[in-house]
Amino acid sequence: MIFENNLAFAQSLDQQDPLQHLRNDFFFPQQNGKPFIYLCGNSLGLQPKTAKEHIEQQLENWQNLAVEGWFEGDTPWMFYHKELKKLMAQVVGASPQEVCPMNTLTVNLHLLMVSFYKPSAKRFKIIMEAGAFPSDQYAIESQVRFHGYDPENAIIEVAPRAGEQTLRTSDILAAIADQGDEIALVLFGGVNYFTGQWYDMPAITKAGHAAGAIVGFDLAHAAGNVPLQLHDWDIDFACWCSYKYQNSGPGGISGIFVHEKHFKDRSLNRFAGWWGYQEEQRFKMAKGFVPEAGADGWQVSCTQVIPMALYYASLQMFEKAGFITPLREKSKKLTAYLFYIVNEVNRSLGEEQYQIITPATEADRGAQVSIIAKHKPKEIFKALMDNNILGDWREPNVIRLSPVPLYNSFEDVFITGEQLLKISKELI
Ligand SMILES: *Cc1c(COP(=O)(O)O)cnc(C)c1O
Repeated sequence: MIFENNLAFAQSLDQQDPLQHLRNDFFFPQQNGKPFIYLCGNSLGLQPKTAKEHIEQQLENWQNLAVEGWFEGDTPWMFYHKELKKLMAQVVGASPQEVCPMNTLTVNLHLLMVSFYKPSAKRFKIIMEAGAFPSDQYAIESQVRFHGYDPENAIIEVAPRAGEQTLRTSDILAAIADQGDEIALVLFGGVNYFTGQWYDMPAITKAGHAAGAIVGFDLAHAAGNVPLQLHDWDIDFACWCSYKYQNSGPGGISGIFVHEKHFKDRSLNRFAGWWGYQEEQRFKMAKGFVPEAGADGWQVSCTQVIPMALYYASLQMFEKAGFITPLREKSKKLTAYLFYIVNEVNRSLGEEQYQIITPATEADRGAQVSIIAKHKPKEIFKALMDNNILGDWREPNVIRLSPVPLYNSFEDVFITGEQLLKISKELI
């Protein structure tokens, strides 16, 4: 598509956008009485206007029913998660049985590694991307140590080549083939939080399986952002947080995916708890753990109704949008427009002040654009904030801007470019 760098053009794209009305369903933060252009949905998604009523409904159930709320009322808490599972399954490309909302992300990463990282003397290594989100690094290192191995030789990190910012798929696949039968687990991000690179998940999964390894993904930056087919891609397990592209609020509940091929495998370790026990027998309080079939069998503690109510509100927004296909259609265009606009700013400045490190190829990225600012990065980021544009900052010099198809517009992107040029001319 041929883009133009003017307001009328951006507005005409908004008029043609069938999802444009959805932004009215979200609250935008304000500064001096003016709403921010919010480009930070990769970090914390905006609040759906329906979030409050979902919470209030559960507070009322608690108020009026107290303990009876587990089995009575319009949404008995005992089965509340089943409503979410139907919608979550559509967001990540799975069956409802394969997903479950529970805990928070890093906790689930640990719980799933308990089941799926089963090192042996010969096969004990984990392959991951270099520069993964720190929580993932700490979780993986501590799991490796827990099993008595040394992270120094048990963790293989695949890094970009010298002078490059992102990973080549061929290098990832070569690293997997290279370590071959020493790999117990391939554990990658879906979309890298820093560069915005979307890894070739099906290819990584295939290569991991060819090497005889289990393959899992952390989808914190992928779920709700890019189209996923976790079941069809034959991924073994995955987990994600729901507060980034899925707008479930700070500390929102996490989701897990376990491929159905593992449901009957009794050899999998679990850190079990009563809520993972077979649902129909749970309240018999019997000795001897028998897991509920499916992802629900990984639950540990009783279901978190209030955080689930928030996630439910947001999942209904995805349902209203028609789930991920129409969102992705818009997202591809919206982010391509941001690429174009940033390059227009560079052209006006006569130098590459803003180097985009996110892959330009659609298939290798989601919504996010990560930009290295050459001169005065922090000052520029601050000035954007002062001008009502809220992105996010990563040390030492990266500005991440994520136009989110649920609530951002082409006009947002155009104005961001206009302000960025103005600020750059003033500051450098
Ligand atoms: C955001 C993010 C997390 C955060 O983990 P929490 O347990 O929810 O705090 C972890 N991993 C990745 C890759 C992330 O992007």
